[in-house]
Amino acid sequence: MNLENSWQIYSNKFFNESKTVVVKIGSALLIDDSIGDINKSWLSCLAEDISNLKDKGKKVIIVSSGAVALGKKIFHSDSEKLDLEQSQAAAAVGQIKLCQAYQEHFDPLGIKTAQILVTSEDSQNRRRYLNSKATITRLLELNVVPIVNENDTVATDEIRFGDNDRLAAQVASLVGAEILVLLSDIDGIYSADPKLEKMSRHIPIVDEVNEAIVSLAGETFSNIAKGGMRTKVEAAQIASLAGCATVIAKGDLSYPISGIVNGGKVSWFLASRNPENARKQWINSIKIKGSVFIDEGARKAIESGSSLLPAGITKFFGRFARGDIVEIINTDGKKVGKGISSYNSEELEKIKGCSRENISIKLGYVARSAFVHRDDMVL
Ligand code: GLU
Repeated sequence: MNLENSWQIYSNKFFNESKTVVVKIGSALLIDDSIGDINKSWLSCLAEDISNLKDKGKKVIIVSSGAVALGKKIFHSDSEKLDLEQSQAAAAVGQIKLCQAYQEHFDPLGIKTAQILVTSEDSQNRRRYLNSKATITRLLELNVVPIVNENDTVATDEIRFGDNDRLAAQVASLVGAEILVLLSDIDGIYSADPKLEKMSRHIPIVDEVNEAIVSLAGETFSNIAKGGMRTKVEAAQIASLAGCATVIAKGDLSYPISGIVNGGKVSWFLASRNPENARKQWINSIKIKGSVFIDEGARKAIESGSSLLPAGITKFFGRFARGDIVEIINTDGKKVGKGISSYNSEELEKIKGCSRENISIKLGYVARSAFVHRDDMVL
């Protein structure tokens, strides 16, 4: 069914149409093992690639590994295997070097970078989810390239993402990216391990990232890349469900992203839905904690695509925390939508009916103006 080179059509289309791109970079690409330090020439090329994307108006987030690999020299040991405390200490040392390297290579191109460290708790806890989403979104609006990594120094096994492929997929879904780029040491997924089987076939397009394809990757590629092909395909699955397409491409060449844009051989995993529907589906799947009644002005505003502001709220029932789901009810008592609340019920008690300017005065601190942001609302 798939035409030969059909990935090129997708690479072209997706990169033309995308607004936000997440690029995952593994330690194997970024660190030159022979010197235990950053591969500067590779990073310079990557920085130019990112700069080209930004010149085309794209927002770019980098998810980068490398903290542990850069920091492990402090142990003066050649041993590859570090225990948990050792890798946490190594990450604490290496993370500074990692972000410094990005800054040094992006600054000359006029690109500001920012460090974001997260644990998997941050995406499971909705309050933290909203906070990290708001921060990353604001950085992107400010034209900054966030450099995301797992917060290895506090991440114990229970709260670990475990691998940055999965983390990158979560970030892509968090910000509603259209493309997740997983740079690897192989140009995509094959029907069997190409190093072992000559007859293995490159799979250019995966229409549906289902369990069959996940287990194919598990069986055939478990040792190829550092994270393994399985984690990459699992990451593609998370991204796909969030409406984001994933491309697995060979990263160990100069200008790896231009390589994809210019038609280099890759595998594309298609998005199953658009990001908005995925987020809305998530909102729909969560139990409501409160009911918020709005006036006619607010109803018209939200129906024409605006956020719900505290000014339009007349009364509410229920106790909820920031990040909980509330239903939105109009003057006829009819449910008109659902959404993620940006304030808890105690705060809303103080600011319902309040204009934007008075919110901070009533609360005593500067807060977000919307009660439910339009991106976090289902009508
Ligand atoms: N967070 C780890 C690091 O910076 C890497 C995890 C991974 O590569 O999956 O070294």
